[in-house]
Amino acid sequence: MYVEVLLELKNKQMDQTYTYKVPETLRSAIQVGKRVKVPFNHRELEGFILSIKNACKSDFEIVELLNVIDDEIVLNDELIKMGTFLKETYLCSLSSAYAVMLPSALKASLKTKINKKYETYLSLKMEHRKALSLCTNERQKEIVDCIEEIGNLQKSEANKLSISSVTTLLNKNIIQEIKEEVYRLQNQNREKDEKKVLNEEQKKAFDAIVQSLKKHQKFLLYGVTGSGKTEIYMQVIEEVLNQKMTALVLIPEISLTPQFVSNFKARFQNQVAILHSGLSDGEKYDEWRKISRGEVSIVIGARSAVFAPLKNLGIIIIDEEHSDSYKQENNPRYNAIEVAEYRTEINQIPLVLGSATPTLERMAKSTKNIYIRLELKNRVNQNILPICTAIDMTCEIKKGNFILSERLKTEIESAMSRHEQIILLLNRRGFATTITCSNCGFTYKCPNCDITLTYHKTNHNLRCHYCGFTTFKKEQCPKCKEDLNFYGLGTEKLEQIVKESFPDIKVLRMDADTTRKKNSYEAITSKFKSGEYDLLLGTQMISKGLDFPRVSLVGIINADESLNIPDFRSGEKTFSLLYQAAGRAGRKDTLGNVILQTYNPNNPILKCVEEQSYEKFYIYEMNIRKKLKYPPYYFLISLKVTSKDYDECSKEAIKVADYLRKKLADTSIVLGPTTANVFKMNNVYRFNIIIKYRFDNQLRMVLKELDKMFILNKKVNLEIDINPTKI
Ligand code: ADP
Ligand code: ZN
Repeated sequence: MYVEVLLELKNKQMDQTYTYKVPETLRSAIQVGKRVKVPFNHRELEGFILSIKNACKSDFEIVELLNVIDDEIVLNDELIKMGTFLKETYLCSLSSAYAVMLPSALKASLKTKINKKYETYLSLKMEHRKALSLCTNERQKEIVDCIEEIGNLQKSEANKLSISSVTTLLNKNIIQEIKEEVYRLQNQNREKDEKKVLNEEQKKAFDAIVQSLKKHQKFLLYGVTGSGKTEIYMQVIEEVLNQKMTALVLIPEISLTPQFVSNFKARFQNQVAILHSGLSDGEKYDEWRKISRGEVSIVIGARSAVFAPLKNLGIIIIDEEHSDSYKQENNPRYNAIEVAEYRTEINQIPLVLGSATPTLERMAKSTKNIYIRLELKNRVNQNILPICTAIDMTCEIKKGNFILSERLKTEIESAMSRHEQIILLLNRRGFATTITCSNCGFTYKCPNCDITLTYHKTNHNLRCHYCGFTTFKKEQCPKCKEDLNFYGLGTEKLEQIVKESFPDIKVLRMDADTTRKKNSYEAITSKFKSGEYDLLLGTQMISKGLDFPRVSLVGIINADESLNIPDFRSGEKTFSLLYQAAGRAGRKDTLGNVILQTYNPNNPILKCVEEQSYEKFYIYEMNIRKKLKYPPYYFLISLKVTSKDYDECSKEAIKVADYLRKKLADTSIVLGPTTANVFKMNNVYRFNIIIKYRFDNQLRMVLKELDKMFILNKKVNLEIDINPTKI
């Protein structure tokens, strides 16, 4: 018996499989998808068994593998297929595909060793009465009685009574230790949440999805904020479970939406497993095993949970489908939505994508019925959408109101007097964004990256938000010795200004700096929900999926901020961020009020936000995309040529662009090379090349050839990003 083993070798992620002979004693343990340990060039390596053969023709002697690592299969058939899909679609290696699909504990690598967790129990080795007669003191008897009563007692509990007595009882063979595997995350019992009666719109969407179970049908659930999409997901899943199938739910960075998870756990109790980056490696390993052993039937997770090894999958649901977080920004650069499309197709099951602001791509597909559009036009409880007012900040500045407009201040006061809550959005953390010398123009820049540093007041330092470089601020300009000024505005400074303007106000701040610790996001959210605080201010984190019934006012401090990002999707991103933030206002019994502060009150995107009209935004933005040949009219591929050596980098980038122009179809457009948005990052220079295409039979082959050419290039690197979300 022989096996083909996939080994990950360090050099540029090349896939290699090697044949090994299976020793007689290990034959029964051999299965495709398990890991084995093999000798390789005087080392030992781990790899996956990809196939089993009875014979092997070779002129060389084939070496034997050393041992089989797993009792249970790690890569089942479906995961193996998805790995191939990733390799073909995103031009990555199989080993990197499997690595991204599995928790660290199950990767084929010798580095991390995460073990199963065991709990030690004590049980009696003889009859109760006999055991008692052998005890020499009261403590021992107490322990024996305790074990008898409970059946088996946790050793740690018994040790609390008396460690020495436990040891004596063990030594005298009166009791014994039993080790049992336990999971690190245990579900607490929760009060069961009963399902709600769906309204007419919800019922229609629910029926459409349920009628398509066991068929491959794609749905776009397009429903305004607060229209009750989550309730639909839960009732559809209930039906899926009734039909003895399982369900997978993806949400953006799960840590940001504790409410969502707890709603599911309240409805489905311990049938739910969660997978996200906030878990420890051990916890992830345990959740993964619960899933693959079929002990849970619902998985909720972030991006990589799309690979959760659920068997008998009945549906995939992806909430907030417009979120960036579904795209992985490093190798393999996969998009969980594209993987979900593939996975639901091979399983012949439905896929449901939900959003109040769908991506243009998805909305366009729904006009062609590639996705069936299910629309929820109304908020549950007949709440109407908030009223949104734009404030021209160029006028306010003349009146001396640099940060909070007159109108926003009065609205904050009146909301406070009615004991309603307020949310302020400012999509920039830190104190002031940049520090500039008004005399000579000096600004602090990162020495490794082509970007200005952000000032953080709490520890008086300047930080690079790309590479983490940190330095201390000086009082005077390092160049001309004049005093330094602050420019721009971050959340930290906004907090200070709000407190100065309203001395009695109780403020909470939420951004990447205040949510670094585990569970701090949850803590801030529940503090705000409890009603102790008047105002929550923060970055885009606060705009996501939160449901605060007492918020009546949302202030958007600088609506222009994200419009200025040099990316063709900046309009879409801005619309979606501001629209979602506005949707936090007036969710229950209170009429929502949104103040949108801007320096460009006539900007068409901001006008659409003001009118709260996705439809208008869609028409406006589609028109631009068509003119500029961007998605959804064209597909994109982004290539990055990177190197520490500027000359080599620029030379190779030109070569790549020329090669593409020569080889691709005439209808495809090759742009560049240009310098990337951040030209130098971590001392690496970056050139960008963009391909826009509609149909191109040559494309995949040409890209594969290019990729191969760079495998041997030690100095210059080529990254290919298929359907990039950022360029
Ligand atoms: P969305 O996900 O569309 O933003 P949610 O699912 O969070 O909206 O629903 C908003 C609120 O309305 C939640 O508190 C939810 O419990 C409630 N809700 C949803 N559907 C119903 C219903 N049919 N009847 C009563 N309340 C509902
Ligand atoms: Zn940097």
